[in-house]
Amino acid sequence: MATPAGVVPSPGHCWSCGLAIDADDRYCRRCGQGQGAFIAWYYRPLWIVLLALTMLGPFALPLVWRTPHLDRKGKWLASIAVVAVCGYVAWELVVAVREIGRLLGDV
Ligand SMILES: [Zn+2]
Repeated sequence: MATPAGVVPSPGHCWSCGLAIDADDRYCRRCGQGQGAFIAWYYRPLWIVLLALTMLGPFALPLVWRTPHLDRKGKWLASIAVVAVCGYVAWELVVAVREIGRLLGDV
């Protein structure tokens, strides 16, 4: 049995589990994932970016790797971008906390 990460999206098959589906199926009969225009909103690239930047940070990576909207190269590029942005934000937070500590230490 194929794992979801190993499923290659193809027409006529569920993008998530690989089960054969009818052309007019809106949801997979096995795993329940939406198909075509009914793919869940949080798998759309714009929403993944928004969630990564506002709430999820690095925890958006599972969405990057599960979305059927990106190919393998796109998933790698998006993952690198998420890690780079989160690393930058974390580093800026460390610098800000050090600065606050230094300012409070001067009082
Ligand atoms: Zn499925």
